[in-house]
Amino acid sequence: MDFELKPELAALRKQVRAFVDERVIPNERKIIDEDRGKRYDTLRALQGEVRAAGLFTPHLPVDFGGRGLGIMGMCVLFREMGRSPVGARVFHCDAPDQGNMDLLLNAGSDEIKRRYLKPLTAGEITSGFSMTEPAPGAGADPSNLKTRATRDGAGWVIDGHKWFTTGGGDAAFLIVMARTSEDPKRAASMFIVDRHAAGVKHVRDVGVMGEPLLAHREAEMTFTGVRVGEEALLGKEGDGLRLAQLRLVPARLTHCMRWLGLADRTLDLCKQYITTRLSFGKLLAQHQLVQHMIAENASAIHAGNLMTFHCAWMLERGLGKEARPYSSMAKNQVARLLCKTLDDAIQMHGALGYSDDMPFAGWYKHARAARIADGPDEVHEVVIAREFLTAGLNLLV
Ligand SMILES: Cc1cc2nc3c(=O)[nH]c(=O)nc-3n(C[C@H](O)[C@H](O)[C@H](O)COP(=O)(O)OP(=O)(O)OC[C@H]3O[C@@H](n4cnc5c(N)ncnc54)[C@H](O)[C@@H]3O)c2cc1C
Repeated sequence: MDFELKPELAALRKQVRAFVDERVIPNERKIIDEDRGKRYDTLRALQGEVRAAGLFTPHLPVDFGGRGLGIMGMCVLFREMGRSPVGARVFHCDAPDQGNMDLLLNAGSDEIKRRYLKPLTAGEITSGFSMTEPAPGAGADPSNLKTRATRDGAGWVIDGHKWFTTGGGDAAFLIVMARTSEDPKRAASMFIVDRHAAGVKHVRDVGVMGEPLLAHREAEMTFTGVRVGEEALLGKEGDGLRLAQLRLVPARLTHCMRWLGLADRTLDLCKQYITTRLSFGKLLAQHQLVQHMIAENASAIHAGNLMTFHCAWMLERGLGKEARPYSSMAKNQVARLLCKTLDDAIQMHGALGYSDDMPFAGWYKHARAARIADGPDEVHEVVIAREFLTAGLNLLV
């Protein structure tokens, strides 16, 4: 196993890290405050700097303005961007747009690429991914899908109710999962729907545990008699569940990378505090119970890194199906470690950690969603156990 980065990637990593440290982190509070008033001056200015440095959307193929790094390269760079909760947005690598770009690259027709992917990759518009529905509709179990698309002449008519469409309110278009058949394996299809098409309603942004953070507003949407043409279908009729996996496996890993970056920064901040704060006659860092927390979290981050890189390596070799349980393992490991690292950071900082003078409480509120979004922990465990009990998980044994 070779853990050395190619020189070009190592140099890019250094460049991204320096930009995040010097330009993004000092401005992150300002970006968030401006966003609350729907102003994006600082964000746009930093995006301009990123473009000028040739680092905008580095994950994309060269034809689309990126650097064609592949998913291993994305792992390395997204991790650095993730050190700030607004970092990925500055580089235009944030969810849900990044996963949607990936999906349209793989499954979009030439016309879809021209009309939607080009402006999306250029950062001119944003997008949403509409799969989850309020009960009794699709959530952890996609077979509950209630939104329907019915054939009508040369196109389709979509009716349904979605929520937790991240960024849906501000998006220019949505990728909507709808039922098109009763065959359980080919029940669903994906459609591109213009956000402002007749019959699409943004009901509200659902209030959640964390304050809204840039595009991360959880939209509730209804679709009533929404007409789309045949060209709105992504892939073929009945491809929806397959495309969801195609999108979700790499999208899950890119979440892991960003979360690992935030966990890293959290532990760095802990180091600064515990190596300067005296308690009971010595530094906090000299107390073994504090060292225990550092060791546990550093080890968990390292395990998360290896799991994420290993799964990315599988994807790069075209082992998308085989990678599925490994992506579930990585996602569960990293989502849980992020929550634990933040909780332990609050503990190590005492009252200061609990206060808004430190960022942990705010970050924790967002991090908690990691154990639910893109499939809750339990569903990933089902996937891992099923794979172990049938095919076996013996890739590295
Ligand atoms: C911040 C955030 C952003 C999101 N963004 C998007 C988005 O952009 N687009 C989108 O379509 N969706 C999005 N989601 C929705 C997310 O994908 C769903 O919340 C998730 O799939 C779970 O579905 P549910 O919430 O309906 O939970 P339910 O299906 O109601 O499940 C509730 C709980 O039951 C338990 N459970 C479920 N199944 C099992 C099982 N088999 N075994 C044991 N326990 C089980 C789990 O603990 C689960 O959390 C987002 C969610 C969050 C929190």
